[in-house]
Amino acid sequence: MTAGDHGPTIPASARIATAAKGGYAVLLRLGEDHQLKIGRLGAFEFPAGYYLYFGSALGGLDARVRRHLKRAKKRHWHIDHVSAVASAVQVWWASGTERLECAWARAVLDLPGVSAPAPGFGSSDCSCPSHLALLPDTPCAVESAMERVRTSQTGVGLQVTPVVAGGTGPGL
Ligand SMILES: [Zn+2]
Repeated sequence: MTAGDHGPTIPASARIATAAKGGYAVLLRLGEDHQLKIGRLGAFEFPAGYYLYFGSALGGLDARVRRHLKRAKKRHWHIDHVSAVASAVQVWWASGTERLECAWARAVLDLPGVSAPAPGFGSSDCSCPSHLALLPDTPCAVESAMERVRTSQTGVGLQVTPVVAGGTGPGL
């Protein structure tokens, strides 16, 4: 922490098997509409709602996810601009040595009503339309997306960790 580092910080209480490496998705809730500039990608409208960001951390899931959950930080990745104003709700993850995030992102983006508000988001290194998906504003949108990931070829072993603000999360 440095002086001036007073942004709200989500306690990094989502505990992931520490040494696990693999793919993850962070479920984020944006409470109100925002226009955000996403680095060199440009500025986009992000309507209020639930978002899924897909990534992989072959250097260790726990450290990577904790970084995503921290609001005050240098903005390095596209997702840093969104996680600064959104609340993390859940972390979905599966250990493995493959990059799972592309398959998961494509599977979720295929669902009816799911959109990519910022084309190219998080996918500079691959050919995916986006690694950030905006879920439709329907009661089962999160469950449908989770089911889609879980039943995809690379979704075997998917675990879900709730992010609990304040205190220690349930852990795994
Ligand atoms: Zn990709």
